[in-house]
Amino acid sequence: MLFKTSMNRTIAGGYATFNYLKQNPPNDFFPASASTPLKDLTSSPRYAKEPEVKLAIAEMATFLKPDQMTNSEGELYNHSSNSSTFHKPNDTERPYVIAYPHDTQEVAEIVKICNKYRIPMVPYSGGTSIEGHFIPTRRGVCIDVSRMDKILALHEDDLDVVVQPGVGWQDLGAYLDPYGLMFGPDPGPGACIGGMVATNCSGTRASRYGTMKDNVIALTVVLSDGTIIKTKNRPRKSSAGYNLTGLFVGSEGTLGIIVEATLKLTVKPEKEVVAVVNFNSLGEAAKTVTDIFKKGIAVNAVELMDDRQMKCIKEMTDDVHGGRKWSDKNLLLFKLGGVSNTVLKDQINIVSSICKKNGGFNIEIAESEADKEAIWSVRKTQLWTSIDWAKKIMPNARAWPTDVAVPVSKLPKLIAETVEDIESNGLMTTVVGHVGDGNIHALVIFPPEQIDVAEKVVKNMVKRAIENEGTVSGEHGVGIGKRDFLEMELGEEAVNVMRRLKLSLDSKMLFNPDKIFKIDPNEDRVDNY
Ligand SMILES: Cc1cc2nc3c(=O)[nH]c(=O)nc-3n(C[C@H](O)[C@H](O)[C@H](O)COP(=O)(O)OP(=O)(O)OC[C@H]3O[C@@H](n4cnc5c(N)ncnc54)[C@H](O)[C@@H]3O)c2cc1C
Repeated sequence: MLFKTSMNRTIAGGYATFNYLKQNPPNDFFPASASTPLKDLTSSPRYAKEPEVKLAIAEMATFLKPDQMTNSEGELYNHSSNSSTFHKPNDTERPYVIAYPHDTQEVAEIVKICNKYRIPMVPYSGGTSIEGHFIPTRRGVCIDVSRMDKILALHEDDLDVVVQPGVGWQDLGAYLDPYGLMFGPDPGPGACIGGMVATNCSGTRASRYGTMKDNVIALTVVLSDGTIIKTKNRPRKSSAGYNLTGLFVGSEGTLGIIVEATLKLTVKPEKEVVAVVNFNSLGEAAKTVTDIFKKGIAVNAVELMDDRQMKCIKEMTDDVHGGRKWSDKNLLLFKLGGVSNTVLKDQINIVSSICKKNGGFNIEIAESEADKEAIWSVRKTQLWTSIDWAKKIMPNARAWPTDVAVPVSKLPKLIAETVEDIESNGLMTTVVGHVGDGNIHALVIFPPEQIDVAEKVVKNMVKRAIENEGTVSGEHGVGIGKRDFLEMELGEEAVNVMRRLKLSLDSKMLFNPDKIFKIDPNEDRVDNY
């Protein structure tokens, strides 16, 4: 009898608690809010310890061949950092192991094992990102998709291609060339489709062909529990449901692993030349670009290198690249193209006359493949040239690369104020820009002891971009380097919604932890410059 009464009380108590919780759910349990502020996460994510990681690796070894996994010191470091990023891993931030899956099924199996043991996963493809995107802050498994490098289908008539994530954009370009086709985005040499989608990259051709988000039709993605989804079918347009493709473009490996991408192609211009022209002032160069766009001329690419950058290039490459000699004045570089010589000639004439009207001089048109390549490669490798130049002047020089973007009309002001800020603080800089998109890269060059000053001017540059209706990153992304800036641009609430989306797809917070925004209320990581 006594037992029965106590059982009744327990049941009644349980029911009352259930009812209370139903009406007053705690924040992290059926949350009523639409977003997740960091403070609502009451504890740090819980991840596997080494013994569990060992079990997981043993399970992976049942289907991955020995050459599909490594923990060699060199590879672990290469999968934590690269020479171009300013944001370095701390000494303990290395993956336990790198896995090299060959296909989607292997990716899904690796993910299922990591999910079972709560092991963080960092996707990796070309390793060229520069905001500390793939630093394994919580160790875990690096999933390197570079061996998934097949072009699966080319649909010439539909102008699309289906590829695996380890296909490099340069290899894709070489493959498409004989078909007279091309793929628009052209980020850092060595970048691959997986990372390009994940960073929403672009490059020198974006003002004509769009950024990555404009060039992805559909994705196949492995989610945090190993589920494989396809975001869309293959038509160029679709209003069917949520735009899941867009959700994964720019997600920086925090929501899932991209294992296949259907990409838009464009027809390669039948005729194309590279044109270069100098200007005494940046304002003249920027006005030229605006005037060309306002005239309705669609140039295939337009890039800017400021006079500091040109001085560096002159000193480092005169007579080296195809025997060229450069002027040290501000430079605009164009790719002009058309379907026939007549169309091309018309475009050259109109662009040349707009350049001249705005004070342009030294106009030069390169027509041979060798000359075009000699000019364009100088622009594409400008970051490394600038770093070498800085070290020539100051052997212990450090260089902080970063990018911001503003509406094109605000670019001259942004550049002028940024250069003034950097130089009046006693540091050096070179500036290049995807000027057609209002996107600049100002490289801050400084002696190691001036790191605080460098940090200050970089922050100023980002704030200045936001004040000018711009963005904290036009193309490199957020990674770990720009997390705080993201809130400055979009506000805390928008970032809280991103955190909610992350939690809904990756509740154990296994995919690329700590990137884009914080996921741990107790995180005290200090950026390692
Ligand atoms: C010299 C130089 C020039 C550059 N120029 C440009 C430029 O003009 N424009 C530009 O946009 N960028 C540029 N970059 C930056 C860089 O090339 C781009 O960010 C590029 O898109 C990164 O691709 P990746 O394959 O190297 O990615 P990685 O560095 O391997 O990874 C980048 C991010 O994507 C995630 N990721 C990788 N693969 C996958 C996958 N399969 N699924 C999900 N997530 C994944 C990673 O976790 C990481 O967060 C330049 C870099 C250098 C060094």
